[in-house]
Formats: sequence, structure tokens, C-alpha cells
Amino acid sequence: MSKIGFIGLGNMGGPMVANLVKAGHEVRAFDIVADAVARAVDAGAQGAESGASAAGGAEIVITMLPAGKHARSVFLEDDKVMDVVEEGTLLIDSSTIDVTTARDLIAEAEKRGLEMIDAPVSGGVGGAEAGTLTFMCGGTDTAFARAEPVLATMGKNIFHAGAAGAGQAAKVCNNLMLAIQMISVSEGFALADKLGLDRQKLFDIASTATSQCWAMTSYCPVPGPVPASPANRDYAAGFTVAMMLKDLKLAQEAVAASGANTPLGAQATDLYEAFADAGNDGLDFSAIFRKIADG
Ligand code: NAD
Repeated sequence: MSKIGFIGLGNMGGPMVANLVKAGHEVRAFDIVADAVARAVDAGAQGAESGASAAGGAEIVITMLPAGKHARSVFLEDDKVMDVVEEGTLLIDSSTIDVTTARDLIAEAEKRGLEMIDAPVSGGVGGAEAGTLTFMCGGTDTAFARAEPVLATMGKNIFHAGAAGAGQAAKVCNNLMLAIQMISVSEGFALADKLGLDRQKLFDIASTATSQCWAMTSYCPVPGPVPASPANRDYAAGFTVAMMLKDLKLAQEAVAASGANTPLGAQATDLYEAFADAGNDGLDFSAIFRKIADG
């Protein structure tokens, strides 16, 4: 079992720490929010007073922070985690951040003799609690091989996507496709309503026909066909509009940097931005059906 420093104990990091503790790891946990540290202590972790103190002496440091600027601040600028850990420490950033920052951080780690992977997740808070997250990892084979067993205590599917930044690349590509699919399913149901076609009938047909996709069969954006989908609880999140918008913006940054062509991704970003700006940022992202249906 390993000594793990864990920084960022929010909706995702909190339950991830609980699963590490359950698996027998010794976890020192820090968040700038004191209540979040207290919850981690209740789950069996030791509380730390700073990011640097959570990381000092750890064999593995895991971060679960909001965005690239927070990761940079923790690893290099304010907490200087990369300067306080011992040579050979493995760093795992599970935050969803931009590909460029992920690559920069891994390059900085390697300069200091540290191994680091980017390891963003999918599976949401439910997956974090159940220990069934999907991890998409970028980095060297040796860093991935060291990280895999500890990630397996928090997740079910652990993928090595490629070199540094490949995990973040996989994450933005996945969520770009998901956002477009959620809008496409919403448009189909909005048209069905106008044509007087029963929603359940459309679901029964389309879910076994060529438009079948996860956004329809597991997360249907209209109430009824999929009882567990957020549409049946007034779009309580789940995965919020704000989070989807964040990921779509990361995708558009990657598009600008790489020269890729994603016209529907650009439109999906505009639609989610307008919907968020209208005060819907806290709803589940499948609520985009309302914007499509209302025009
Ligand atoms: P969150 O806002 O609930 O948690 C982030 C935590 O980081 C907060 O508790 C915050 O106080 C803490 N923090 C910020 N700056 C810090 C610092 N300098 N030092 C220590 N702690 C600091 O967010 P979350 O929902 O847990 O998501 C974390 C990451 O996982 C994000 O990048 C998000 O995009 C990604 N993600 C979230 C979900 C989801 O469903 N919530 C799903 C997949 C991926």
C-alpha cells in the first residue's frame, strides 16, 4: 500500500479519497475548503494544512482540481508540489484541463526526475463513489504501469491513451462527441413533438435503429423512456451544463491549436454557452433539450 498525497477534495476528489482509504492506502488530503478536508478525515484520511504538506513524503500525489490554472498553481507556482516531493515520486493529475498545460506540467516533472501522467476521468460523481470511473491516461509506459494499480482502486476501466497529454485529448474528443450527440437526440425528439409522434414510440424505434447512442439509450433528454435519466428529475445534475461548457471550450482551444475542423463542435459550444448564460448552468447538460425545444 502507498503513501498518497491527494489535493482537491470536491465532488469527485472526496469520494476518490474514500475509495483509496478503503483499499488500504495512507492518504494525506488537502483542499482550500476546510469542510472538504474535514469530510476526507471522516472518511479515514489524514488532513493536511497545505498542498505542499499533503505532497511532502508521499510516494504518489494525486490532484483533482477544477482547471489548468489550479493544477499549475498547485504543482509549480503556489504550493510548488514538484519542488517539495522526493525524486521518483509519481504525480497523477486527474483534473480535466487543457492539453497544453497537461503537456507542460509533465515536461516540468520530468526535468525534476519525477514521473507524471495526465489521467482525467469520466463517470461522474456516481462513478467516483462506486469506484467505477474510467481513467484516460497520457504519459510514459513506466509511469502508466506504476499508476495503474492505484487508479484501479478508484476506477473500472483504465486506458493508456498515449504520450503526455493523450488522456486530456481523449477526454475532450469524447465530450465533444457527447455534446453533439445530446443536441442531435434533442433535435430528434423536438421534431417528433411537432409532428405529433409519441416520444416513447420514437425511443423504441430509434434506440434500435441507426441513430442509437448513449445520449439516447442511457441518458435520454426527455422524461419517460429512460427512468434513470436526469430528465425525469427536472434535470437535476448529473453532469452540469457548466461542466459540459468547460469541456467544449477546452475542445475548441485544442481545435484552434491543432487546426482541426469541428463546425458542429463550435455550434454546440455556442448553444451550451447561450443556455448557461440564461441561468441554466447548474442544470444537467441533457437539459439542452429545453433550449432546442423552445427555440
Ligand atoms: P469541484 O469544484 O467539486 O472540486 C474541485 C476542488 O478543488 C474544490 O473542492 C476546490 O476547493 C479545490 N481546489 C481548488 N483550488 C485548489 C488549490 N489550489 N488547492 C487545493 N484545492 C483546491 O470539482 P469536481 O466536480 O470535483 O471536478 C474536479 C475535476 O474533475 C474537474 O476538472 C472536472 O472537470 C472533472 N470532472 C468532473 C466530473 C463531475 O461529474 N463532477 C466528471 C468528470 C470530470
